Amino acid sequence: MSVQTSIFDGGQRLQMTESIELTIQSLNAYGPDHKHWGVAWSGGKDSSAALTLLAYLLDTGRVKRPETLTVFYADTRMELPPLAIAAAQMMDELRDRGIDVRVVRAPLDKRFFVYILGRGVPPPNNNTLRWCTRQIKVDPMEEALRARVGELDGSILMITGVRQGESAIRDRRIEMSCGKDGAECGQGWYQQVLPNARGLRGRIATLAPILHWRVCHVWEWLKHWAPAAEFGDWSTRPIADAYGGDEAEEINARTGCTGCPLAQEEKALDTVLHNPRWSHLAPLKGLKPLYRELREPHHRIRKAGLERLKSGEIAKNPQRMGPLTFEARLMGLERVLQLQAECNAAARALGRPEIDMLDREEERRIRELIKAGTWPDGWDGDEPRADTVLPVVYQNGAVQPLLFGE
Ligand code: SF4
Repeated sequence: MSVQTSIFDGGQRLQMTESIELTIQSLNAYGPDHKHWGVAWSGGKDSSAALTLLAYLLDTGRVKRPETLTVFYADTRMELPPLAIAAAQMMDELRDRGIDVRVVRAPLDKRFFVYILGRGVPPPNNNTLRWCTRQIKVDPMEEALRARVGELDGSILMITGVRQGESAIRDRRIEMSCGKDGAECGQGWYQQVLPNARGLRGRIATLAPILHWRVCHVWEWLKHWAPAAEFGDWSTRPIADAYGGDEAEEINARTGCTGCPLAQEEKALDTVLHNPRWSHLAPLKGLKPLYRELREPHHRIRKAGLERLKSGEIAKNPQRMGPLTFEARLMGLERVLQLQAECNAAARALGRPEIDMLDREEERRIRELIKAGTWPDGWDGDEPRADTVLPVVYQNGAVQPLLFGE
């Protein structure tokens, strides 16, 4: 193997070669039990490394080709623009090789912005309301797999980019979390949730062939090896650049949605904005504060007292805060459209690609849902606004009246 541009040499190169060798061994050990393979690919660094390495190993005969290979690209519509653009380029390259690539998206009403601004469900958070990963990543992937399994005989081996490095291999631990720096949101879920999903049990096995890779090997592969002609001439360098190029390893940004409300910092977006080619996307920094603002009481309604659940039981948290008011949703919609318009005006002036976070169909659907007076299950819309001062109701039904009447 000769990679002229690599900064790796000597021992590190050897480690890289050993990591690839272990990947080959795991694919050759588990792969032949399955006629059909799939790849759960999010466009992030780990799954892109796993995917391009797999294609290279199949092309060169180091790993025996399965009967079918399907690549499932998880398109949340919320990806960082440079990653979404790199993914589009890589999809062309995969299709040029005759690989079946399917774009997996949540149905219109379940997409991130439509669910928040149309249905009124508040942005996800780390405490009580983490609906997003399952809804925009895991459920659509399950659905796509169910459809694929229906077309095939036998099981599918799903290849993921889950990567934990050496210590985790020792501990036999796979993280589900995507809040961690360096992690790729969704990959752990694909690894652990998909094999047990309805209609997929017994039809899906998962394999993480780069589980043992160190992060420096991922960067090395994306920046220097995969783009080289001998490894497939892949457009993976922009992925590494989006994460900070040569500093990517120290920055250690996580992969996920632009402005992810669950991440403490916005390392990934900040890193992208540092690059003069992408600095015109600065208005996207407005997303995170918008999500925070939408969770404030004056933008939401709340239960006035005790709440009886469908099961007949009394809910544990009386007077809980709930969905967004229509005014808040319209305010959020205008704000997102404005951020997008600002980015695109700058992109046009600079001759750079435009972004598409919220398209016309999604905007129309959001307005339609608001007009139809849509509320999430369990809410009628006649509940008080959440900043209304109410007597405090306890779970045992006791009421503490207001000290001062209005
Ligand atoms: S990146 Fe953040 S917002 Fe996107 S699915 Fe993951 S946790 Fe949710």
